[in-house]
Amino acid sequence: MMPRKSIPKTESPMPKSNETILEINLGALSKNFKYLKSKLEPNTKFLAVVKAFAYGSDTVAIAKHLESLDVDYFAVAYAKEGILLREAGIKTPILVLHPQPVNFKALIDHCLEPSLYSFNVLQKFIEVATEYAQKEYPVHIKFNTGLNRLGFNVSDVQSVTNVLKATQALKTKSVFSHLAASEDLSEKAFTQQQISTFTSIADKFEMLMGFKPWLHLCNTSGVLNYPEAHFDMVRCGIGLYGFGNSAKEDKHLEPIANLKSVISQIHNISPNETVGYNRAYRAKGHEKTATIPIGHADGISRLYGNKKGYVFINDQKAPIVGNVCMDMIMVDVTNIDCKEGDEVIIFDKTHKASLLAESAQTISYEILTAVSQRVKRKILT
Ligand SMILES: *Cc1c(COP(=O)(O)O)cnc(C)c1O
Repeated sequence: MMPRKSIPKTESPMPKSNETILEINLGALSKNFKYLKSKLEPNTKFLAVVKAFAYGSDTVAIAKHLESLDVDYFAVAYAKEGILLREAGIKTPILVLHPQPVNFKALIDHCLEPSLYSFNVLQKFIEVATEYAQKEYPVHIKFNTGLNRLGFNVSDVQSVTNVLKATQALKTKSVFSHLAASEDLSEKAFTQQQISTFTSIADKFEMLMGFKPWLHLCNTSGVLNYPEAHFDMVRCGIGLYGFGNSAKEDKHLEPIANLKSVISQIHNISPNETVGYNRAYRAKGHEKTATIPIGHADGISRLYGNKKGYVFINDQKAPIVGNVCMDMIMVDVTNIDCKEGDEVIIFDKTHKASLLAESAQTISYEILTAVSQRVKRKILT
């Protein structure tokens, strides 16, 4: 066989980013953690929520860094996410917010602590824990105080404690609930009602059980807006990743993720020519587009198409024209001086993901967690 010809070296200097990449800045994570901690009493414990690949970033890198900063707890949504952390060597306790009976054995095998939120789930967990000869296995009892998503009812306290007192297999490590509108100050009265409902549930629970489990209620916006409701522990997700759900708080936080790409090709479009699938965009005059290697399979929803969403090229805003493709977008660069290989910023600490999300009537949480596993992660230390 003929040896393959070697690829000639490129003449031009390396562009800043030559493929689509999600940079994750651990320095910013430390900063956000410190800011959130500064809002707490010294004894209040900190649970870091790392569900959904640590809000679309990188579960293991984030959890390892937070473990080095001495967080008290982690939470994930599903057992599988907790198993990933244990397999990566994470030793900190992990609360599984939405465990499912089918995974209870795996949960115990990996020392993951379930949230128990209904009589069915509680009973099933007792059965599995008993079958595996567990004594005082740590569990977290969740009450519904108004979100109406998961949780025992306020009126269930007596029955729940009866079930818990009848078994040696479980130990209630904490009692918790979740706020429905902690970021929305026009719902302050509702949130205060949730706080007082939670307090009365906790009092009754403690009285009936004869000991005090840890209590926790606040997510990021709860921490920032309701200092009176921090109880023994808080559960922060979005704040760690750099978003405070308000302009005031965003100033103190730094987005940890930079989503970057590169211009693959430039097209000069004549008047009345169309761009992209279904010919959704029609040029009015002589225009110029850039094709970027990121599409709806990477997390840029089709809702960002047709000039709703945008990217930044050489610090100028370039709207997405036409429909978002699976693997690419085309953006309008008619008035931008740019060329193939130039860097493209989808979001970073100055061009915030929360603003891009707003252009498609959604929120930072959704655009961050949408960045698919196809996008390469690069950890900045
Ligand atoms: C996701 C989640 C959190 C974290 O909320 P943030 O707003 O991201 O801080 C806390 N508690 C529960 C129960 C959650 O599901």
